[in-house]
Order: sequence, then C-alpha cells, then structure tokens
Amino acid sequence: MIIPKANKLDASQLKEVEAIAADFECSILEIQGRNRCVYAILGDEGREVMFKRIAGLPFISKVDMIESPYKLMDRRSGLSDHRVRVGRSEVGKDEPFIIAGPCTIDPANPNLYLESAHALKEAGVHALRGGVWKPRTNPYSFQGDNDSLSIILQAREETGLPIDIEVMDSEQLKLALDAKVDVLQIGTRNALNYSLLKEIGRATAGSDTAVLLKRGRHVASPNEFIAAAEYLVAEGNPNLMLCPRGTTPQLEGYRNHPDESITPLLKNRTWAPVVVDPSHSVGHADFVPACSLAAIAYGADGLCIESHINPAKGIGDDPKQAIHPDKVKELLAACRQVWKTRYLP
Ligand code: PEP
Ligand code: MN
Repeated sequence: MIIPKANKLDASQLKEVEAIAADFECSILEIQGRNRCVYAILGDEGREVMFKRIAGLPFISKVDMIESPYKLMDRRSGLSDHRVRVGRSEVGKDEPFIIAGPCTIDPANPNLYLESAHALKEAGVHALRGGVWKPRTNPYSFQGDNDSLSIILQAREETGLPIDIEVMDSEQLKLALDAKVDVLQIGTRNALNYSLLKEIGRATAGSDTAVLLKRGRHVASPNEFIAAAEYLVAEGNPNLMLCPRGTTPQLEGYRNHPDESITPLLKNRTWAPVVVDPSHSVGHADFVPACSLAAIAYGADGLCIESHINPAKGIGDDPKQAIHPDKVKELLAACRQVWKTRYLP
C-alpha cells in the first residue's frame, strides 16, 4: 500500500510508480477515498527492492508492507482512516447508524411502503431499506418487481433519506446505478459471488455509492468474509459496510445462528464499519430488540432492521420478523444508551 505525500499522485508520478512496479511484474491500483487516494500494489509484492525504490521517491510518504490475506481491508492498511458516509451520516460516528424498512416492497400497495418510510423517518433512522428484487428460496415465491424501484425512489424523495436495496445481477445493478441508489446491498446468497463482487466494485469505483455486504450464511469464516469485501475494495470502492446476519445451521428456535458476536473480531482485523442485521439473524420480531442491543454492545457501528408499518400486511419476511416503526424508535433510544456505556478495547 503506497501513501503519497499529497492527496493524490499526479499523472507523471503515477507513471513513475507504475514503471517500478512493472519491473517486478506488479501493477498499481488507485483507490479513491473521500479525501485522499492510496495505491495498492497488485501482484507478488513480497519484493523488498521494489518497496525501497517506491518508498525512496520524493513524493511518497510511506509504503506499508502488510503481511495479510486482505491487504486493503486490513486495519493497518492505508485505508484505516477511511470513513464511510451514507447521505449525511458518517457511519459509526456519534451514534448507531440505522438502516430500516420492510423486507420486500409490495408493488400492489405502495402506500404501505411510503407510510413505513415516513414513520421510520419520524423514528430517527438514517437510511431506508426495501427489497425491490428478492432472492427467494422457493422459485414460486414473489421475486420482486421493477415497479418497486419507483416506490422506494419516491420514498427517498419524500423523506430525504438515503436508500438501500439488494442487487443480484448486472441488470439490477444497472437500474440501481441509473437511479443513484445510495447503498447497494449484496445478500448472503451472493456474498461469495466473486464475479458480482468485482462487477459492483468496478461499477462504483471512485463514487459515493456505499455497499452493504452481508456475511455468507454457510458460516463464512471472518477471514473469508473480509476477503469477499477485499474484492470490492480492490476494484476501487472502499465505501463498504460489513453485515453479519446469522449463519446456518440455525440455532433451534431462531432463523439462523446469531453471529453479532463476530463484530469485535471484524473490527479488530479491519477498518470497515460493521452494521449488524438482527432481523435475519434471529428471524422473529420479538427477538430483534435483544439481538440489536447485543450487537451494539459488541461494538457494531449500526444496524439494518426490518420494519413495517403493519407487519401483518407485509410480504416476504415482514409478517414474521418486521418490527413496527414505533418499536424502532424505542429501540434506537435504548441502543444510544448502550452505545454510550459500552466497553470497547
Ligand atoms: C434481506 O435483507 O431481505 C435479505 C434477503 O437478506 P439476506 O441476504 O441476509 O438473506
Ligand atoms: Mn428479508
């Protein structure tokens, strides 16, 4: 990882660095943070001579030699001071960052989504979620609908809150990018789909678009999870949030095996904010508050919660796991208390 003295290398400086890297069959990837650029060395970079030559250039501040399976995600990397922003919020600063909204937008009842969105704004959340396209286990279940995109865009327009939707393929990605969706969610089923991760990283490189990457549900190890995130960052988008959401096999009585406890591990290994999804983890509205509070106590920067104005009228996961926006408001106040008193290393 190369850190220049100025905020960015100019074209001739970059050429000079690239020429040295090329001598060692390596290439350079520019990673655009919000305020400054850092440069990753791609290839077999375990060559001290190359490091010394680059570090010796007058416009280079330092070259980090990090021995880690994920060079850019490592908290010792040049990205360690990168901050992820969504809308007007810096994720993890001052208070828990809350994304909330229905699991699935019902295109036949747009008002249910819009009412949920307004109530959630009132509750104090920072971003709205809502499934436009849904990954369903059963091919005959509702798969989502392009029309739902205009509903969540309307909600953004009316509330001023940024929006988060899941994309599963190139076509959905294009529609979401054209609509300037603020947060692209990569679901647990695609969490290890490296082609999609690369495509999303490339398509959002250098932009403000954030990515919420869920953890693979088949017990992706913390390092496998972080390595998946590395794909996005290596393509040039460090605006990333890691989202534990429970794994299989399930803990009897819950939807998955709750995994908010990996938060301190993730935060110890990487600089990326952790936003826990308690809804898919425990999978039952009654258990969501406790899981949320536990996640904040474990050091999470935020939560992604399923919430619906009338869960019984919701579709997808909403009838079983969405909580009412009033409950979100109550929970947020409790989370802020835990936030203030939690013990972090
Ligand atoms: C969702 O957020 O509604 C969803 C399908 O999430 P996951 O990919 O974690 O199952
Ligand atoms: Mn869901």
